Amino acid sequence: MNSQPRKQLHVTFLPYPTPGHMNPMIDTARLFAKYGTLTSVLDSTTHVIPFPAAKVGLPDGVENIKDGTTIEKLGKIMHGISMLKDQIELQFQDLQPDCIVSDMMYPWTVESAAKLGIPRIFFYSSSYFSNCVSHSIRKHRPHESFVSNTHKFTIPGLSQTIEMTTLQLPEHLRTKTPMTTHFDAMFESESASYGALYNSFHELESEYKKLHGSMLGIKSWTVGPVSAWVNKDEQKANRERKEDLPEEAEWLKWLNSKKNESVLYVSFGSLTRLSDAQLVELAIGLEDSGHSFIWVARKRDGNENVDIFLKDFAKRMKENNKGYIIRNWAPQLLILDHPAIGGIVTHCGWNSILESLNAGLPMVTWPMFAEQFYNEKFLVDVLKIGVPVGAKENMFWASIGKDALVIRKEITNAVVKLMGKEESTEMRRRARELGDASKKTIEEGGSSYNNLMQLLDELRSLKVSKVLSGKRLDI
Ligand code: UDP
Repeated sequence: MNSQPRKQLHVTFLPYPTPGHMNPMIDTARLFAKYGTLTSVLDSTTHVIPFPAAKVGLPDGVENIKDGTTIEKLGKIMHGISMLKDQIELQFQDLQPDCIVSDMMYPWTVESAAKLGIPRIFFYSSSYFSNCVSHSIRKHRPHESFVSNTHKFTIPGLSQTIEMTTLQLPEHLRTKTPMTTHFDAMFESESASYGALYNSFHELESEYKKLHGSMLGIKSWTVGPVSAWVNKDEQKANRERKEDLPEEAEWLKWLNSKKNESVLYVSFGSLTRLSDAQLVELAIGLEDSGHSFIWVARKRDGNENVDIFLKDFAKRMKENNKGYIIRNWAPQLLILDHPAIGGIVTHCGWNSILESLNAGLPMVTWPMFAEQFYNEKFLVDVLKIGVPVGAKENMFWASIGKDALVIRKEITNAVVKLMGKEESTEMRRRARELGDASKKTIEEGGSSYNNLMQLLDELRSLKVSKVLSGKRLDI
């Protein structure tokens, strides 16, 4: 036992390899490092655990969920990640951290932390709202009373009336799939944690934070938006790998030629690839809207015809100065900050939502799968800064067949409603207000700032009491 407790906290962050989970966790770890801890799994103390690519039949370098261009590849990547459990456990034993901040995808870290007698903090990479809705549906199963998949029901237990259909719920809730057990374990592990960390902020979700506390009976801290807090201009550019950004200068030149708030940014996040038919519908829907757009089209395996279509389309859009297409990956933080951007089309991934919100932008909501339909409800019905495109069915992008789920007319209508300034004046005002609040909350004295300081203080006190008593903590 040390007689003098070390003041420095040692916190180990365990990220899940997909941008939507890794980006916010790494940003949070950087905040911990900045405000008084030594962190593992990043910067100078990153511990790299090699991915067993060969063992799961993948080429070297394919180890991130975002590289899963087919269901088969995705399955192998997920299997490879699950094989790392023992090595990660050993790493925890070696590191002897004071606390583990674990991605939600590793429910077993509850036991790892218990063995070490340290707190485990559950890191959730989406909204309180989505988690509350998910808990309510899992508990009350309101969708099971209806024969029709398209019948609207109200989510029980919320103060607002939020309506959804069975088709909009994640597949693992509608039917028992192998993922059902995984998600059950994941949600249960949250309640079994010392607390939870949310990339959200008081001014955005205080009501749902409270509800979350009463539903799960654990405490949580809102410390977001972490990306805005920790990524200043240069870091925004450096978040991406340089080889992913061959078009950087050109897109910037193009945006610089556009009027303020006149361009729509269109992106479906790091995972989703559109089907050929959907891609064509989107292209024509955007063109028909008459508004300028910058669109990130992720590459999908084996769609050469679409490559040809997109090349022709991009050429035509360039000639009439209406659209700019980025193939595969965009420097999203930089684009969203550009004054020419006036709105976005989003798949309702929580990070993209927070990043757009920080830039004060209203959104066309086009959820695809997972909890994205819940986030859509939050944007449209609670915050009132979203125009729904009319997505009806929650389906993992790679399982969607050949048909387009959203047709060109629906896309055009939503874009015109958002970018036509008269109809969206109020929405823009609210989005700007939330953008301002998201900037203030991370400044010294703001609520996210204070929450992070409180959390660090609490972890330090726990560490001191553990060292002084010479015992494991019963956490
Ligand atoms: N992202 C990016 N460039 C892209 C696509 C995505 O930088 O071309 C980033 C985006 O800024 C966000 C993350 O990847 O931080 C995606 O997370 P989100 O929660 O929005 O959606 P997901 O990819 O998990 O569906």
